[in-house]
Amino acid sequence: MLYSPELLLPEDVITGEAYKVPESTGLLKLDAMESPFAWPSNLTESIASKIDEMAFNRYPSAGAEALKASIKRYFNVPEDVDVMLGNGSDELIQILIMAMAGSGKSVFSIEPTFVMYKVIAEWLGVSYEAVPLREDFFLDIQATLAQIQATQPGLIFLATPNNPTGNLLDEQALVSIIQVAKGLVVIDEAYTAYASSDALHLLSLSPNVLILRTLSKIGLAGLRLGMLFGSSLWVQQLDKMRLPYNLNAFSQAAAIEILEKPQAFQEQASLLVDARERLQNQLRQLPSFEPFPSEANFITVRVKAPFQAKEVFSALRDQHGILIKCLDGGHPLLENCLRITVGTQDQCDRVIAAISEITS
Ligand SMILES: *Cc1c(COP(=O)(O)O)cnc(C)c1O
Repeated sequence: MLYSPELLLPEDVITGEAYKVPESTGLLKLDAMESPFAWPSNLTESIASKIDEMAFNRYPSAGAEALKASIKRYFNVPEDVDVMLGNGSDELIQILIMAMAGSGKSVFSIEPTFVMYKVIAEWLGVSYEAVPLREDFFLDIQATLAQIQATQPGLIFLATPNNPTGNLLDEQALVSIIQVAKGLVVIDEAYTAYASSDALHLLSLSPNVLILRTLSKIGLAGLRLGMLFGSSLWVQQLDKMRLPYNLNAFSQAAAIEILEKPQAFQEQASLLVDARERLQNQLRQLPSFEPFPSEANFITVRVKAPFQAKEVFSALRDQHGILIKCLDGGHPLLENCLRITVGTQDQCDRVIAAISEITS
């Protein structure tokens, strides 16, 4: 008799669920931190002409050296820092956690944070531990340091600005974590383009600091391109676990073109920062909404009684055609919270008008 999935697979696979991407056809999509802007047409033309010359019958460049050089230039990565590229930073997170499997060491993060750290650790059978943030979503640094010293995890993920809370973690706190940690400290900077500071310089503090970035949140989500910056001591080891052709030829070519002419994307980022500040002010004026500070291209808000986050979320989607993210139920600290991706000013105005109507 054949083995059934139930016989062969671990129970958490059988009872678990796939990462759900909600249906968004026909909706204004403000749920996933995508850029609202299309690529400039001169750029799509120059990418198209590059594609004309490409040999898609061949495997892509395995080391992606040309793209790595563009990335180092664009992100001002110091000469002695190594780069590893992934099919989105999700893949790099997966490789980092895969590296821990069998080491007996755990993966550590704060909570709430980016869910893939925990999801991937669970799929790979690596133990995962987390320390809750404070109610205001900033680090409880005493508890965090105590836990790290007690368990000395192999891998620490710190997202800053954090998703889904939006705030930048305090740099002094990051430094103190780096000082006590014996394992790898990965600073996940998916939203740096929208933040007032970044942590790249912390690489110089320890060879065990790694910086994770992505092009997804600055208008290139479809390319699937993430990057890890760090000492060759670690990057050379981790790169052994990367699949040889993880970056397709199209994404490599398009990213090189874009990083050569990045002005349009930088302008879009600055428009979104303006739109975020404007949206933040408008949300503050709504009596039933409490927005949290954000240095990312989204704003997390708490809905106040008598309104419920779930109801506002459904009304936005079903009556106003706007898809945002309902965070309620994801973590106790996120009770009655919603996450709104910053769109164009017009799109933000639509959100404000709809929320005002729903909560009037
Ligand atoms: C979106 C996000 C990622 C994943 O980005 P991809 O490069 O698209 O895989 C990683 N970390 C954080 C904190 C994110 O918000």
